[in-house]
Amino acid sequence: MGDELGPSRTARIDLGAIRSNVESLRAHAGQAEVLAVVKADAYGHGLLPSARAARAAGASWLGVALLEEALALRAAGVDGRLLAWLLAPGEPRLADAVAADVDLSVSAVWGVDEAVAAARAVGRPARLHLKADTGLSRGGATAADWDQLVATALRAEADGTVRVVGVWTHLAWADVPDHPTVDKQLDAFAYAVERAERAGARLEVRHAANSAATLTRPDARFDLVRPGLAVYGLSPVPQLGGPEAYGLRPAMTLTAKLALVKRVPEGSGVSYGHAYVTPRDTTVGLVPLGYADGVPRHASGSGPVLAAGRRRKVAGRVCMDQFVLDLGDDAAAAGDEVVLFGAGDDGAPTAEEWAQAAGTISYEIVARLGPRVHRVWV
Ligand code: PLP
Repeated sequence: MGDELGPSRTARIDLGAIRSNVESLRAHAGQAEVLAVVKADAYGHGLLPSARAARAAGASWLGVALLEEALALRAAGVDGRLLAWLLAPGEPRLADAVAADVDLSVSAVWGVDEAVAAARAVGRPARLHLKADTGLSRGGATAADWDQLVATALRAEADGTVRVVGVWTHLAWADVPDHPTVDKQLDAFAYAVERAERAGARLEVRHAANSAATLTRPDARFDLVRPGLAVYGLSPVPQLGGPEAYGLRPAMTLTAKLALVKRVPEGSGVSYGHAYVTPRDTTVGLVPLGYADGVPRHASGSGPVLAAGRRRKVAGRVCMDQFVLDLGDDAAAAGDEVVLFGAGDDGAPTAEEWAQAAGTISYEIVARLGPRVHRVWV
């Protein structure tokens, strides 16, 4: 049997890779500052270690979706510029966020009003980034509502309760860099910025670019870029090039120890529904990772794994906690390590390959890894 000590499922996070990815992104960003997106537990890589690594490599901003994520960073002593962008009405911790110097995104007048109330409660101005909906139809004020949002925020600024520091937007087709909507959104963004500045906004930052736009659209960089996926070394434009094409290195390696290895006869149905039937007498290995850990059930029969020196595919269905590999006649023992994905430079599959096997994107492969997967930061 292989090494029995240690957790049976491990995601190893290479913080050196995160640092080097942020350095590459800074080079791509030119004059623009870098905001490293660390929402969703840093896309599964661990909020605090990833945030600290990104900061150490020169990400002068951090970005999260939720106030809770921002406050967790502050509680752990992470200082510096920090933006939270997904606020619903009546956030119970809004005043805490203002007190903790967290920048807030607002898309509607009620957001300004709530920020003003929070600022009054804690006795310091709220720092606001006004979000323009330039064509994603997600967050942000539409062109019809923009001037009113700007005017409301600037009135509050005149009262000293807020500081309008940013105008920003998010792109719908950044992963297809020459898609015509990218130009349209950038034009609409330039117009929103111009309207805000004409109304008297004294902006510190204008920002629009996610990873894909940071890497492929210099005209989208403005003062600040907001890469997420690329910080973790995955390509946001896999159809154009892998991570290495952009100076990136995947930070996460997901491994598991075989929980059981045994011989089964030809014709054995494997896993629920017998979607796989062994074509000959063979050795099967049990991998203790399942869809409850984020291994996509849609990768049943197709998810790639490096085991006993060779690439295999998940045999049959992915279950909640486990799946099976057909190891043929190769030597293997319970406790042996298998690799689901890693940096892609040692024969092991990549998160991108898992995404393709499951019909999804690499974001989902890493961000959905569950809490039962032990994280190790190296
Ligand atoms: N900006 C915003 C508003 C986002 O929601 C995200 C992530 O979805 C990002 C930036 C980072 O995007 P990406 O991971 O594609 O770089």
